[in-house]
Amino acid sequence: MVSVLPDLLRRNPERIPLVASRLNISPDELRELVMNPRINPYVPLVVLKGVSYQQAVDLLESQYNLPEVEVSLQAMRWYPYGKLFAHVVGYVGQISEEELKAYQQMANGEWRVARDEGQAANGEGQTESTYHSPLATRALYDGADFVGKSGLERQYERFLHGMPGGEQVEVTPLGRRVRLLQQIEPLPGARLVLSLDAKLQQRAYELLQGRVGALVALDPRTGEVLACVSQPAFDPNLFVPRIPADIWRTLLNDPQAPLNNRAIQSAYAPGSIFKPFVALAGLETGVLTIRSSVSCPGGYQFGRRFFRCWRRHGAVDFYGSIALSCDTFYYITAQKLGPERLAYWARQFGLGAPAGIDLPHERKGLVPDPEWKRRALKQPWYGGETLNYGIGQGYLLTTPLQMAVATMGIANRGVIYRPHLVRQIVAPDGRVLYTAKPEVIHRIQASPAHWDAIIEGMVRVVERGTARRAKIAGVAVAGKTGSAEFRKGGRTHSWFIAFAPAENPRVVVCVLAEEAGHGSEVAVPIAAEWLKAFFANGE
Ligand SMILES: [Zn+2]
Repeated sequence: MVSVLPDLLRRNPERIPLVASRLNISPDELRELVMNPRINPYVPLVVLKGVSYQQAVDLLESQYNLPEVEVSLQAMRWYPYGKLFAHVVGYVGQISEEELKAYQQMANGEWRVARDEGQAANGEGQTESTYHSPLATRALYDGADFVGKSGLERQYERFLHGMPGGEQVEVTPLGRRVRLLQQIEPLPGARLVLSLDAKLQQRAYELLQGRVGALVALDPRTGEVLACVSQPAFDPNLFVPRIPADIWRTLLNDPQAPLNNRAIQSAYAPGSIFKPFVALAGLETGVLTIRSSVSCPGGYQFGRRFFRCWRRHGAVDFYGSIALSCDTFYYITAQKLGPERLAYWARQFGLGAPAGIDLPHERKGLVPDPEWKRRALKQPWYGGETLNYGIGQGYLLTTPLQMAVATMGIANRGVIYRPHLVRQIVAPDGRVLYTAKPEVIHRIQASPAHWDAIIEGMVRVVERGTARRAKIAGVAVAGKTGSAEFRKGGRTHSWFIAFAPAENPRVVVCVLAEEAGHGSEVAVPIAAEWLKAFFANGE
């Protein structure tokens, strides 16, 4: 690992081109790094990691001529799977001043895992688990440290960090180094045991290759995440030790936003995959019964406007409304329910709030209602908006993870577990610091007959409805397709939610493909192929 002393270079900026050329980086890049007003100029700034043995020896030999440069040994991140786990694992980068402050405060004798902010936003209060560790008795962080910036690297930073090796030095009040007090042996950080299955992750990655979208799969019996892929992805090894400025800019400016974890950070209109939830709301509130039926002449006249269905279904009964995804049926149901009850039932399934997965930066989406619209948009709610709400269009926004979690609610007939990736945290000495337990975060009360009806409707989607391509030999799959309009005239987002086996679910999957057309054409085959891999895996 090669560092420079910013203070020396700031005082002798004419040395920057020479030092930069010896380090094989551009003078501009080096100047930008050392002049950054947010760094402590007296703390060595890491500029190169993973230098070859020969390069390190060359630099050490010329140390006399390059007093600004320090060469030291340090463990380095290496992501053997590259892009495959990029969004889940995240990446590391040099600690910022704010992070240093925050971590130094927290590292005071104990390791804490603050559960994501989502819980606080849920109004459920923030829970915090505290773990004591023998490693955490000295200051854990200094300004030269690398810390997790995204993904699990960030969420579990304080566990993964361990004790950096290094020197204890005496410094002036300004942080200027006076003398070396002692050499400290490095201690490795804790290990995370994940619930992800590498083979299923690989399969999801391949199936989404060339698409812009996400696949999330959960075990509905625990909330464990089995696969979580967002495409396009990035190679986290690019961030080791520091991402070159031009590559960083390319990633940031890429219109396909490869740094974005679409599974949790992009919210979309759910479209027709919202219909089973509207159907349950209808049954529970009594605006629908299992014997309800409507006539679909290809749409619904509301006031002066004709709301289109995607085809002319004729007579549609309750099960057919889900299996054939009739918009007319849901325009009428939504009109009877009204926006407040639609919002109430959407929130029952966790929509509109972060699902609370153990990853940072999760988006909460949006469950609109008239009160929200008055506050946020200073506008009244219009009747037509209620109709669109019923088919998952309009202001409603959900992430693929949220839809997987909500689908878990149907699969489990009302019980929703917190989605999570980490099964165990194991200290370097083998002690288990933490074991995840299934945690119920929502419990939806509905009559058993109504759960049966929704699930039967979703089974028919695959048996004889819009997702016949999701049939798997020997396994009853329940699902729902969706095509969400997001721009007038543009191609629709393609959605599919599913769980299987329908009677005793062991897996829930949600696929989203941006601007890919109909759910049945793109998201369904992806989910079907992934489910085949899941069941072939002997799961
Ligand atoms: Zn219809």
